[in-house]
This record gives sequence, C-alpha cells and structure tokens, in this order.
Amino acid sequence: MRMPWLGGNWKMNGDLALVAAYRSRFEAFDPAVEVCAIPAFPYLQAFSGHARLRLGAQDLSAEASGAFTGEVSAGMLKEFNVEYVLVGHSERRTLYAESNALVARKFLCAYQSGLKPVLCVGESLAQREDGQTEALISAQLDAVRAQVPPEAWSNAVIAYEPIWAIGTGKTASPEQAQSVHRFIRDKLRGFDDRLMGSQRIVYGGSVKGSNAASLFSQPDIDGALVGGASLNVEEFLLIANALAQRHLG
Ligand code: PEP
Repeated sequence: MRMPWLGGNWKMNGDLALVAAYRSRFEAFDPAVEVCAIPAFPYLQAFSGHARLRLGAQDLSAEASGAFTGEVSAGMLKEFNVEYVLVGHSERRTLYAESNALVARKFLCAYQSGLKPVLCVGESLAQREDGQTEALISAQLDAVRAQVPPEAWSNAVIAYEPIWAIGTGKTASPEQAQSVHRFIRDKLRGFDDRLMGSQRIVYGGSVKGSNAASLFSQPDIDGALVGGASLNVEEFLLIANALAQRHLG
C-alpha cells in the first residue's frame, strides 16, 4: 500500500502568520496522510519540530558547498530537518531556465544527502495539443535516470504537474491525470524492477477542496502537490481529508 502524500508549495508567498495558522491546526492533519509543508527557505525553521507535518524545500543547489552566492545546499537543508525537496518545478524550469540535465544533478544531490526528491514533470498546453505529453515526460524522467543509480528512485515522489493547470484554475480531468500517472508508473517499473512501481505519483495543478476527491478516486493518483490552495490552511485541510478518505476506502 502506498502511503498518500500531500505537499503544500507556498512558492514565494506566505509569512509568519501563515506558519502560525498551520501550527495551530497541526493536530487536525490525519496521520494516514504524509503531509509536507513546503514554505520558502526562511520559514523552514519556524515550521520544524512537529511530527505530524513533514518539511520540504522548494529547491536546492546542484553543488555541495562553495562560492555560489544565494544558493542553498542539500546538507544545509538536512540540518534544518528538511525531508523532501522539490526538483524541477515548472517555474524553475521555465523562469530560471533549469535544463533536464541540471534537474538531474539536483536530484542526485538530494539523494546523496538523504533528502527525498519530489521530481516535477509535465507538459505545456502546446505540447499536449501536439500529442507530445508522453514523449516530453519520458525525456524528463530519462534525463534523471541517466545520472542516478536505480536505488535513488526508491524514496522519490513524482509530481505530474501539467503546466497549463498550474495556478490557472484549470485542472486536468481525473481521467487525463490517471492516464499520465499510469504511463509514469509503467516507466518507473523499468527503472528498477525491485521497486515494482511503488513510488508515490502525485498530481499538481489547481487542486482544491472541491476537486480533490475526484482526482484521488483514480488508482494511480497517490496524492497532490498543491500551490495556491496551500495558502489557506482550512482549504489545505479539506484536501488532506479527501486524501485520508481515499486511503480508508
Ligand atoms: C504548484 O505550484 O506546484 C501548483 C500545483 O500550483 P497550483 O495548485 O496553484 O496550481
């Protein structure tokens, strides 16, 4: 049984008041779901120290240490009890020109430091309309596979995030998402057959309380990576509860 996973990516949003709002609701999160708060770097320390919520970072450097002003290494994140780290979020790929090769190096750095990478993959609207979705996602996964040992996939979470659905209010239909998730799972089976495709594959793209249950009803959707809706702790709790219900069902 795959443990459901839910990440709340605040992006460059949120403040200490939001950390406090989360802290006041820690106990409301069902332990049947692995819930991960992913605030901006300065807020990680304010979050740490509670067993119910895991901590994630939004990015990491592909270097271990040195003269890289502004960067944050995997080892530093580990010192602050960070467990997960996003790798290759579409905003990093598009706004900061992160290539598949750089994403692969970051994934490797995370793995080597004992962080669990959350590898984000997904197509643009033009690529979907052009029938390129599977080829594009294959290339994103293969680039990482080329750089990391097979066992590096065991603790990874894969986030399928169609770019056209991120922050747009447009959600992939449950069937559209399921079809890509199944494709990803079949592909991961080929990376290390000992894992039997057991990695968590989560969906991201305008998930909210009202659409979460229908997405989570699909057999290969193991949770969600949530942006906008994670800025409201009550909305985020609705999503977490929908995922806990799916786990029970
Ligand atoms: C994201 O940032 O990964 C995301 C899915 O954002 P949103 O939920 O706002 O679409």
